[in-house]
Amino acid sequence: MRRIDVLKLEELIKVCRWMNTSGLSPATSGNYSIRGDKEDTCFVSASGVDKGNLRVADFLEFSLREPDYNTEIKPSDEAPIHVKLLQMHADAECVLHAHSVTNTIIGLIYADAEYIEFSGFEMQKAFTGIKTHEEPIRVPIIDNTQDIMGLAETFGGFELPCFILRGHGVYVWGNSVWQAKRHLEGLEFLIECKLAMRRYM
Ligand SMILES: [Zn+2]
Repeated sequence: MRRIDVLKLEELIKVCRWMNTSGLSPATSGNYSIRGDKEDTCFVSASGVDKGNLRVADFLEFSLREPDYNTEIKPSDEAPIHVKLLQMHADAECVLHAHSVTNTIIGLIYADAEYIEFSGFEMQKAFTGIKTHEEPIRVPIIDNTQDIMGLAETFGGFELPCFILRGHGVYVWGNSVWQAKRHLEGLEFLIECKLAMRRYM
């Protein structure tokens, strides 16, 4: 592994620890990836590791051209989603997948919806390129499945660097580990606002 990849993974591990203490990756759930320094490579977290205790050695290298998931250490079940998102978005450097109570239930509450629209929230500006709360944004909701490979093949264009997996969690990505973290925090905040508004309105 190149030194620059080690440095990037160390940054990612800081975010993974923050996610774990923030309730975003309980019970070894959640998975994470970065683009490798070597062209057309990435590193994805291994399966079954406590996400508050990840080490650089817990990330597995994959080719973005011809990924082979039969690695000695079992990769995350959702590794094909990370690979697909990094293949689709040339400017994405990091993908984060989180499971919280709120981001799990939101897609079940909006059971028939294909997206959730957010409008009027200052926090919409957490997403790169969104300049005003007056610009409505739509976050897609994709139905959950255990056929992860098949799911990744259905991905079309994403207007925002995120989506909700119904009853499961969320994916976000960014052009750095820290931009991806900002997108995750912003999305989580917006989801919590929607749920809180249902209680009071
Ligand atoms: Zn998951």
